[in-house]
Amino acid sequence: MKAELEQLIALQNADTSIRKLQAEIEAIPKRRAEIEKEFDQRAFEIRELEKARDDARTERVRLETEVLEQRSNQERAERNLMSSTKQDEYTAAIREADAARKHISQLETQILEKMEAFEQAESKLKEREPEMTRLSADMEARFKEFEEQTRTQAEQLAASRIERERLVATLPKQMGALYNRISARIRDGIAVAEARNNSCTACFMSLRPHLMAEIRRGEEVIICDNCNRILYYLPSGTMQKEASPAIAAENAVA
Ligand SMILES: [Zn+2]
Repeated sequence: MKAELEQLIALQNADTSIRKLQAEIEAIPKRRAEIEKEFDQRAFEIRELEKARDDARTERVRLETEVLEQRSNQERAERNLMSSTKQDEYTAAIREADAARKHISQLETQILEKMEAFEQAESKLKEREPEMTRLSADMEARFKEFEEQTRTQAEQLAASRIERERLVATLPKQMGALYNRISARIRDGIAVAEARNNSCTACFMSLRPHLMAEIRRGEEVIICDNCNRILYYLPSGTMQKEASPAIAAENAVA
């Protein structure tokens, strides 16, 4: 019986580790997004500078196109001016040429502003180049570490499943069935619990002395009246060392 209880505890540990690893593997996209977000935050100022630089460049191109349009308006007005034979045509052409010139002068001021803005952003980016290099190296290292971690978790999961199958195969059928029944019914899937200091460590229900004595003997399966888990007892020496593996694993999940 004692050996079977030990197998149940080992099975519980395997199941707990399977659940924990499955949860971690399911959370991979979320964990990856968190890393990306963290680096996005760190790179925020740099992104803003890059945006300012690119906007200035785009805006300058747009203004230059507008200058070309205004130049052709101006030239057309000047041609009209040369060929005008009537006073009102002449006046209109002069007004048009003036307007185009004024507009061009405004556009050129704006172009200079955009060039300045571009250069400012560019020089700030140059200053921060080492920081950017460090940041992308950090990010690369972090993702590499993350990939390794997820690969290890997948391997551990496969190993825990093999271990689980091995334990189930060696356990008497009845015990295995009992374990599965309890484990399926309990929300956290923890089917075995340590009895310590006269109480169940899973639900904290106190256990009567004679029940505690039976659990200590470990000759038959004792189930907690309150939470229906299989109870086991660890002598105080091993308790210090292993500190209730099933419960410790449970705490690690939470
Ligand atoms: Zn209990």
